[in-house]
Amino acid sequence: EELSAGLEKTKTGLFSKLARAVAGRSTIDAGVLDDLEEVLISSDVGVETTVKIIRRIEERVARDKYMNASELQSILRGEIATLMEDAHGSSENFGLDATEGQPYVVMVVGVNGAGKTTTIGKLAAQLGKAGRKVWIGAADTFRAAAIDQLQVWADRAGATMIRQQMGSDPASVAFDTLTSAKANGADVVLIDTAGRLHNKVGLMNELTKIRNVMGKVIPGAPHEVMLVLDGSTGQNAFEQAKQFTQATQVTSLTITKLDGTAKGGVVIGISDQFHIPVRYIGIGEGIDQLRIFDRKEFVNALFG
Ligand code: GDP
Repeated sequence: EELSAGLEKTKTGLFSKLARAVAGRSTIDAGVLDDLEEVLISSDVGVETTVKIIRRIEERVARDKYMNASELQSILRGEIATLMEDAHGSSENFGLDATEGQPYVVMVVGVNGAGKTTTIGKLAAQLGKAGRKVWIGAADTFRAAAIDQLQVWADRAGATMIRQQMGSDPASVAFDTLTSAKANGADVVLIDTAGRLHNKVGLMNELTKIRNVMGKVIPGAPHEVMLVLDGSTGQNAFEQAKQFTQATQVTSLTITKLDGTAKGGVVIGISDQFHIPVRYIGIGEGIDQLRIFDRKEFVNALFG
């Protein structure tokens, strides 16, 4: 029920538009499908994924000729559920309590404002509650405020934070953090990184340097590269996913700020287009408002 509340705006937006698309129509004809296409695009599902969904619905309509326009909602639900299943495969519903790696190292990337600091704080708190020893590395050394903000979250979560002064080398902070985490038997390490999208090569070089240093301290680290995207930015989130996946190997996604936006369709489109598992979604600023992503629960919350 908390998830439904978090996705309320997306849900009402989608359904009021769907209702309008089928109003007064008895069969699923080209006109209804055109309107449905509009609905999906305006819900930020993205053009490619929208076209894919419409094509699948067209095939079903051609096959089962008597489909009623009022059934469109359940047909759409089924197609979206299938698409989410294809995108996530077997990698579903996993939180960060992995024991592999000793410690398990997560490098967190994303543009400034996407919610990296908040997500790291919420994760640290959840993991701490579950009895994990969490280390946080403040490798976004370009913003003094970001370091202080992260410290507040780390203190609240009972996590150990490793920091250096502003402007220091991010790779050096990552090195210190992993060294300390390893020496102290940490379970999970969360490394914050700078979110300046100066240019593709610059970003790539910076992230590569940090990754290489990590691998030298703990073989195989980072075990996960989590891209944090602000869901309320709609198409911008797609663009950021494109840039970061080109700059480094992203292995998981967290999509934040799904509360208070009608653009929750980004979760569907980004899953479909990037095939990177969504591990968490943010549905509020509170410490508990980070949820392990469950694709079935998500579809149920949208259509339930
Ligand atoms: P960073 O620059 O990527 O580290 O972003 P921050 O973690 O500082 O977050 C930017 C703003 O987004 C802050 O005001 C957060 O409280 C807010 N925020 C982060 N996640 C969520 C979320 O899931 N929902 C809402 N409503 N706000 C969020």
